[in-house]
Amino acid sequence: MRIVLFDLFDTLLEKVWFDYDKGLELLANKYFDGRSEELNKYAKEYRECFMSDRNLTQREQSFFDQLAFYEKKFGKKLTKPKEDIEWEVFSVCRKECLAFGAKSLLEYLHERGYKLAVLSNSIFSAKTLRRYLEQFCIAQYFVEVVSSADIGWRKPSVLAFDYVLKAVGTQPSPEIYFIGNKFEKDAVGALDAGLSPILVSKEPVVAPCIILQDLEEVKDCLQSSYLYVNSISERESLTDGPGLRTVVFFQGCKRACKGCHNPATWSLAEGKRYSVNELADILKAKSVNKKITLSGGEPLLQSQAMINLVGKLDGFDICLYTGFNEQDVPQELKCRLRYLKIGEYQNGNRTTVTPYIGSTNQSFIDLKGKK
Ligand code: SF4
Repeated sequence: MRIVLFDLFDTLLEKVWFDYDKGLELLANKYFDGRSEELNKYAKEYRECFMSDRNLTQREQSFFDQLAFYEKKFGKKLTKPKEDIEWEVFSVCRKECLAFGAKSLLEYLHERGYKLAVLSNSIFSAKTLRRYLEQFCIAQYFVEVVSSADIGWRKPSVLAFDYVLKAVGTQPSPEIYFIGNKFEKDAVGALDAGLSPILVSKEPVVAPCIILQDLEEVKDCLQSSYLYVNSISERESLTDGPGLRTVVFFQGCKRACKGCHNPATWSLAEGKRYSVNELADILKAKSVNKKITLSGGEPLLQSQAMINLVGKLDGFDICLYTGFNEQDVPQELKCRLRYLKIGEYQNGNRTTVTPYIGSTNQSFIDLKGKK
């Protein structure tokens, strides 16, 4: 299941400043005849009556509720569309920047075919939040943006999490990550909702979940934990390295070589996701003679997790098929390999004469023989 849900403020976006008084000032000057003193009084009354216990009740009050309250107090019906007023107020009272690593994490997840969604505690509507995300050029990554303002429930309420899961068309599952920054609202809420939380925090916190410093670390963690596999050979192969070998065809290749033997492995968004441990266990059970070949696709597109995988296959005779050159293979991986096939496939140089290679520009190296 490839779904990741995000909290928005202080997770994907980092606060530069926030001053709601600026929004109230705009409201008073533009829509309530400059009567800012009265508006501030009503705003205080509104907060005391409707917002003081929202962390307790987990009920949300929206900006539109607030606006209706002011209209009633002033005895004035505003004619401008409420969404436009909301956007004006929202824009004037806050400034954020993209959190470190946000863009590269979203790109990575998007490329790997993950469905992404936002669940935010906010008095502002999802429409406004999505419009804001467009300013940071990240709105296109999200199939859903959900705001507590629209649904009436705030995190950590399970109802808020259920709503976003329904919106993306899925059920709770520990395979779904929720990435947030607040212990109670995000980590505990996501756990109660049956999801796996990841807490992004620079502060030392104790939480029953993965805690990482920033979104770049989240990407590194996911990249080194999972492997995407097109298929695992049903029977041992005699043609993918010396001896009878179990072959793993990894998913994802960007080369698009003419005459490629396995174009079904190209897409990065497909394939089955395995944790490193899961795949290591499968290979240990399957390969009785402990000979395996890591092929593709391009296995080195998943090099962080590949290093972790081979680290768990002690005593295995491992062969790697890659379109890259020898110097591109990370040393931590290379030192655990027995054989290495290098070079991209060139249809014009196709050969069936030399064992284990497809075109004459490629080389098959016995790394043990080299030492
Ligand atoms: S590197 Fe291999 S899998 Fe990728 S396109 Fe070329 S032949 Fe196909």
